[in-house]
Amino acid sequence: MSAKKILLGEKDIPTAWYNIVADMQNKPLPPLNPQTKEPLKPEDLEPIFAKELIHQELSQERWIEIPEEVRELYKIWRPTPLVRATGLEKALDTPAHIYFKNESVSPVGSHKLNSALPQAFYNKKQGIKRLTTETGAGQWGAALSFACSVFGLGLEVYMVKVSYNQKPYRRIMMQTWGAGVISSPSTLTEAGRKILAKDPNNSGSLGIAISEAVEKAAADPDARYTLGSVLNHVILHQTIIGLESEKQMEIAGEYPDIVIGCFGGGSNFSGIAFPFLRHKLAAGKDIRIIAAEPASCPKLSRGKFEYDYGDTVGLTPLLPMYTLGHDFQPADIHAGGLRYHGAGTIVSQLHKDGYVEPVDIPQLESFEAGQLFANSEGIIPAPESTHAIAVAIKEALKAKEEGKQKNILFSLSGHGLIDMASYDQYLSGNMKNYQLTDEEIAKTVDSLEKIIK
Ligand SMILES: *Cc1c(COP(=O)(O)O)cnc(C)c1O
Repeated sequence: MSAKKILLGEKDIPTAWYNIVADMQNKPLPPLNPQTKEPLKPEDLEPIFAKELIHQELSQERWIEIPEEVRELYKIWRPTPLVRATGLEKALDTPAHIYFKNESVSPVGSHKLNSALPQAFYNKKQGIKRLTTETGAGQWGAALSFACSVFGLGLEVYMVKVSYNQKPYRRIMMQTWGAGVISSPSTLTEAGRKILAKDPNNSGSLGIAISEAVEKAAADPDARYTLGSVLNHVILHQTIIGLESEKQMEIAGEYPDIVIGCFGGGSNFSGIAFPFLRHKLAAGKDIRIIAAEPASCPKLSRGKFEYDYGDTVGLTPLLPMYTLGHDFQPADIHAGGLRYHGAGTIVSQLHKDGYVEPVDIPQLESFEAGQLFANSEGIIPAPESTHAIAVAIKEALKAKEEGKQKNILFSLSGHGLIDMASYDQYLSGNMKNYQLTDEEIAKTVDSLEKIIK
């Protein structure tokens, strides 16, 4: 009988995060100062981010040590299990071996805590008193709330209004951990007031909430801003997922042919994929890396590679990325998360160089995959994670058709126990696919300033 779960001990928690930039032939283009359009200087970022995080953001060192305090806190739930999805394999009757890295076992229910803890740690170490951030469905806000409570930092979370009103449970989690949660757009910031003056019923977006949180942090010398995805330092922290998986696959005696992650801004995808992609970059290993996007927000497969802002108002540095444009908002009927308009700069460069395969998943297919997974493995996956499951299923069925044994590894980025309203919508038959047209994408992409020659 082969093992169902491959477990590591606390002593196996990695001692360093992996920075893939060190192994990239084409380094990512530099971020630009939004005023001067010149490459950003580290000092430009100091009012907004902790110094150590800026250092990591721009670093080209291959390995960056994980502070002892952070490794100690990782022990609360890490190392996470690597699970052989034998139930799913059986349901699909596939010769493929399917493995998933179960990041849903964290206290907040997702991978986000992997970066929330180090971000809070470095800010605390620098003497910062308060953090600000944004959150969509509340996963990042919840993770940072717990991290700030551990380190005794204050926290203000700008939560996208539609989620604030429709998804109260993560707001209550954040408040339980002591954070202040504000519905965005709000009247507390210039950015929020500007949006509300134009459109009093604006239901909010991640881009708007980022503008508000950045503005608040920049105005307070004792406060800094934090982001839960997209940026290089966030992706760096998430490589702990792939580094543990690497050891666990070795114990299983197998090597993945395909590594899959769902894709919002790219942190859990990069986290599981980069330590394996390293073998391809450094040793020519044959491996496919697939990013599972929602068809309603397909930045990698249908976006444009160009400099764009991380927020709606244009306060953040200009980042070179695959983007749908900073004004892009996915259709309201989209229930599966992963709503951010752009992809992190490292993944964007890797995609441009042909190392990443994006796949778009319509939402009915993603929830169908989620339900099959729930019934075969017991875990109800986060709506975001169902996109990765849908791709794993596609690849497992392809392996069956071709009569080939393939090893498939995906990141189960979170559980869906606080997202049951989306499942309700799916189960009641009220969910529809959304056909995003080229014209809609052009509306927000064509207005981007052309900076990349
Ligand atoms: C936030 C989130 C994502 C998307 O963010 P990435 O940075 O792309 O990983 C995916 N899954 C879950 C469960 C999340 O909370």
